[in-house]
Amino acid sequence: MRTSRFFLATLKEAPSDAEVISHQLMVRAGMIKRLAGGIYTWMPLGLRVLRKVERVVREEMDRAGAIELSMPAVQPAELWQESGRWEKYGPELLRCKDRHQRDFVIGPTHEEVITDVVRKDVKSYRQLPLHFYQVQVKFRDEIRPRFGIMRGREFLMKDGYSFHSSFADLQREYRNMFETYTRIFTRLGLKFRAVAADTGSIGGTGSHEFHVLADSGEDALAYCPDSDFAANVELAEALAPAAARPPAAESMQKVATPGRITCADVAEFLGLPLIRTVKVIAVVVDPEAEKPGPLAMILLRGDHNLNEVKAAKQLGEFRFAREDEIIGALGCQPGYLGPVAVGERPIYVDRSVAAMADFVCGANEAGYHLTGVNFGRDVAEPTLVADFRNVVAGDPSPDGKGQLELCRGVEVGHIFQLRTKYAEALKCSFLDEGGQSKIMEMGCYGIGVTRIVGAAIEQGHDQRGICFPAAIAPFEVCIVPMGYAKSETVKAAAETLYAELSTAGIDVLLDDRNERPGVMFAEMELIGIPHRVVVGDRGLAEGKLEYKGRGDAESQMLPLAEIGAFLK
Ligand code: ATP
Ligand code: MG
Ligand code: MG
Ligand code: MG
Repeated sequence: MRTSRFFLATLKEAPSDAEVISHQLMVRAGMIKRLAGGIYTWMPLGLRVLRKVERVVREEMDRAGAIELSMPAVQPAELWQESGRWEKYGPELLRCKDRHQRDFVIGPTHEEVITDVVRKDVKSYRQLPLHFYQVQVKFRDEIRPRFGIMRGREFLMKDGYSFHSSFADLQREYRNMFETYTRIFTRLGLKFRAVAADTGSIGGTGSHEFHVLADSGEDALAYCPDSDFAANVELAEALAPAAARPPAAESMQKVATPGRITCADVAEFLGLPLIRTVKVIAVVVDPEAEKPGPLAMILLRGDHNLNEVKAAKQLGEFRFAREDEIIGALGCQPGYLGPVAVGERPIYVDRSVAAMADFVCGANEAGYHLTGVNFGRDVAEPTLVADFRNVVAGDPSPDGKGQLELCRGVEVGHIFQLRTKYAEALKCSFLDEGGQSKIMEMGCYGIGVTRIVGAAIEQGHDQRGICFPAAIAPFEVCIVPMGYAKSETVKAAAETLYAELSTAGIDVLLDDRNERPGVMFAEMELIGIPHRVVVGDRGLAEGKLEYKGRGDAESQMLPLAEIGAFLK
């Protein structure tokens, strides 16, 4: 590729809303352009990176025996009603109607569609196992799209779904996928960690997440350096030995700091019985508010009524506020406030809200909220904390083999043993060897293809810009001639090298624009090209070219005759 024929659109300044470095650099490098919140155009430069990620993912999925297909983005509501997720999925599910007023969703995931395919076409144990995958656009109406394409609303996912005649066979494929994901992230040149994870709303048992390690990651991970224990904090909390948690009373005094608050603590605090539907009220502070400090906002969900809550805590003059009032007060998107997730597990505020919520207490009528909370009088004064978790560094590892350490990660992959959850709901069955009808066992396996691009930049950058791993760099080599238009010798040498490298199958960018050297160098560094060759009259006089690796401190002169072999 030649810069004169390509579209490079780099910027000096990062947009003010770009909180993390990858978002800043992707916009400055001209890889993406924002169209709407969480919705981006992939510009030619960015698309080259995205396609390289895709290619690695495809190659490894094919090698692992999965079969590619492509399912529609738009899915009929009936399938979601059948699985029960039409009700359960919540506001992240984008719903729409066609001209006949029939309901549809823009697929956030494809368990329903693939199960429908398989239930119609697969009847016998002889056709199993099967593993279908696609690399396809997903839409999730995220509460808080941010970090550029890392938490977008429209994004590309590799999603695979496997079908089995026995649980043992599902477990075999699950291990196969664990190894495949490990190969994929290794090939992509990423530092990552696989952690055991909770299965959340998708259901089923057995799940691992793959995280790219980065301080800006939204997920907290707990791991034990002395053993192979590694889990996301939600699961680590659930597994944490009871002894590691302080008694409830103590933890409730810690409400203003990142405490260790469990569902039982909340119930005790409110003097209410712990039942499954006890849900959390979160006092929310808005870090972006002009006037910093807590906003009197409590989310109410659950089965207890207001009077019980008041009586239990003499909470003062509260009144109900509707969600839209609170949304108005916060100036946030609808759906911003919920859900605050809890079950019998320790409380964990939904991560999209976690950065803003640092206090939890009671429960109330679904869909209603309290306003008028007087901090200090009614509830402890909250302070803003970045995270809300029960497990802290130094806690004993649940496997008893050492102490936990914490780190942060960006979730780039997630594998699940779904078991029969969807197959049962959608009646996806087969005839076994004895001619008996059985429900299929299912697994599902996701990779955030677009998110990987951002995560790779979180890990690979310096003051001058992006440092892409070679496997996903938009171009592997750039040739920067000093005076392409002025010196015939330089032009000829640059063209010869360009032809040689292109023929060798190397992705090479020839900068034939006649920009000042400083401009060209800065741009090639910003966009993260791993290898740079400078072609100049002085070097050529000695039969040499100047080579510099993106991470090298110094450049080196290499003989003209050797440079091809050096780069190949
Ligand atoms: P998260 O916890 O970050 O919201 P998730 O657990 O909801 O992700 P999954 O349902 O496991 O996501 O989807 C599989 C993969 O899709 C994730 O591991 C992640 O890499 C990617 N992904 C999910 N949501 C987004 C998003 N909003 N933008 C970009 N990638 C995403
Ligand atoms: Mg999510
Ligand atoms: Mg997740
Ligand atoms: Mg996940």
